[in-house]
Amino acid sequence: MLGFDEKLKILADAAKYDVSCSSSGGKRKNGGGIGDSSASGICHTYTEDGRCVSLLKILMTNYCIYDCAFCVSRRSNDVQRSAFSVKEVVELTMNFYRRNYIEGLFLSSGIFKSADYTMERLMLVVKKLRTEERFNGYIHLKAIPGASEALLKEAGLYVDRMSVNLEIPTEEGLKLVAPEKDHQSVREPLTIVKNEIKAAQRDKKFLKKVPLFVPAGQSTQMVIGATPENDLQIMQTASEYYKDFDLKRVYYSGYIPINDKDSKLPQVGTTPPLVRENRLYQTDWLLRFYGFSLNEILNNKHQHLELDIDPKLSWALRNPQYFPIDINKADYNWIIRIPGIGTHSARKIIQARKYGKLKEFQLQKLGIAHSRAKYFMICQDTVASSGFLYPERIKKAILEHNPKSALIRSASQLSLF
Ligand code: SF4
Repeated sequence: MLGFDEKLKILADAAKYDVSCSSSGGKRKNGGGIGDSSASGICHTYTEDGRCVSLLKILMTNYCIYDCAFCVSRRSNDVQRSAFSVKEVVELTMNFYRRNYIEGLFLSSGIFKSADYTMERLMLVVKKLRTEERFNGYIHLKAIPGASEALLKEAGLYVDRMSVNLEIPTEEGLKLVAPEKDHQSVREPLTIVKNEIKAAQRDKKFLKKVPLFVPAGQSTQMVIGATPENDLQIMQTASEYYKDFDLKRVYYSGYIPINDKDSKLPQVGTTPPLVRENRLYQTDWLLRFYGFSLNEILNNKHQHLELDIDPKLSWALRNPQYFPIDINKADYNWIIRIPGIGTHSARKIIQARKYGKLKEFQLQKLGIAHSRAKYFMICQDTVASSGFLYPERIKKAILEHNPKSALIRSASQLSLF
């Protein structure tokens, strides 16, 4: 019989492979209970406004009736198994919260016995936390594909965010590594939750008091690199899911080789492909916040993201006809397409140029990445450069200036030990 600390070690360690734990969008008000999901701020997961928060990230159990080849909890894997009771997870969360270790809970689970059996336990944890412990911190719950509508709807009343993992970007890829699973069983809970969120928003317009339902929205996660999909296929799936289910986030989790005996899986190195993962996140960002269409970034002629440069720079180098852009005349939507200028700097530029035409030194003060942007823009005192005509030269110069331009995002979780 395992002691509590051993259980915690096993179930926290098994949970680290799930990266979809951003707590962005929490809006739960503190009605006299404990904790505040909107005031969180410790470590290891980042909100959309840049805040860093800490969540207790654990599995209810790492027993599983499925055998997904890419997953450490698959039934054929020879690992130590354990499971928490509902009471244990509730007590652990409250103890950690009171000691100021965490601001919220990220709860997932392997599937023991059946989808409903597991989902019922997850639902009871979040219900007890909210109704008995009056816990008001952030809760992200992983819903179990195949769970009944009634359980999903009840759990949604107590959590901030719910997500269901798509696991593999295409149905064909999923069949290669997890033949017992399909995408339909993910689409069903996502549809139920989407419709309930919409109904709650609609009711809010007419009724004074409407119970919260998944107020921070839903998300999903895909494992990248375990199956042969290219970046175009991955982003096509992400775009489809954003549109069909109003997702807040799609997470891209680089495959970590944990199963060297399975010939269906790539025998890649021991580190996950973090640069590719990062390029996918950058593409995701460009599609959602920079007005790019998927076809501009990835298409049949360009099915893979370049690893040595970011996707906006890659697009700019493939489309020199749009450059240079005049910082003093272009509208916001074009300024944010200049490599090295983000939405924040673009807004500052629009504001600052109301008071006079901007020069190079002023742009540098506004926080743009000038060493990159200078090849793609002109301003009041720009001396025309023939560099615009030679994308290869620009790429070389940018890489020489910043050899570490490939940002590597660390996806580690809070260590409890
Ligand atoms: S169902 Fe989930 S926990 Fe179980 S083996 Fe598949 S991915 Fe892992």
